[in-house]
Amino acid sequence: MGIAPAYTVAFLARDEAVRLPCACRVRTLARKDLVALVGRGERLHLLGLRRELWCSRCGEPPMEGWLVPQSG
Ligand SMILES: [Zn+2]
Repeated sequence: MGIAPAYTVAFLARDEAVRLPCACRVRTLARKDLVALVGRGERLHLLGLRRELWCSRCGEPPMEGWLVPQSG
């Protein structure tokens, strides 16, 4: 599932997560993790611009992510 530009972290259902691929791995961030890191009002398609979410291993910003069930 793609992410519509207007959607914010607050839009996510409690059981949804965002999968963010970078150069070295794919991370899955739960809604509560995103709230803690960037806040409820951050737009999902701008997550890649937030340094809080840049990869600590390769140092790269995440590429465009997608929504997944939190268990997935
Ligand atoms: Zn990485």
